[in-house]
Amino acid sequence: MIPRQPRVANQVETPIPHRDRRLGGPHWWDPDRIQHLDDMPHHCPACGSSLDGSGGIVVEYWEADRRLYHVWCRACRWTGDVVRVRRMIGHEAAD
Ligand SMILES: [Zn+2]
Repeated sequence: MIPRQPRVANQVETPIPHRDRRLGGPHWWDPDRIQHLDDMPHHCPACGSSLDGSGGIVVEYWEADRRLYHVWCRACRWTGDVVRVRRMIGHEAAD
């Protein structure tokens, strides 16, 4: 019995999906990216130190449609969540 030879004639090169795509320029996710940068805290809410660079950690996450930032400050070790409030509804202050 002759062993069956592997068929290579029908080999198809797998296309690279991102070959012709450019990484720069406008994208559909730009509004979200820009809002991320606008809302991201740059200073610690407890001591005011800069969180940029190695000053701390700022991680974005979501609760439904709310964008939250989990923050850790290297200077004072404060840890907590920061949420940008665009509209605050409260009661009138007493006279
Ligand atoms: Zn701090």
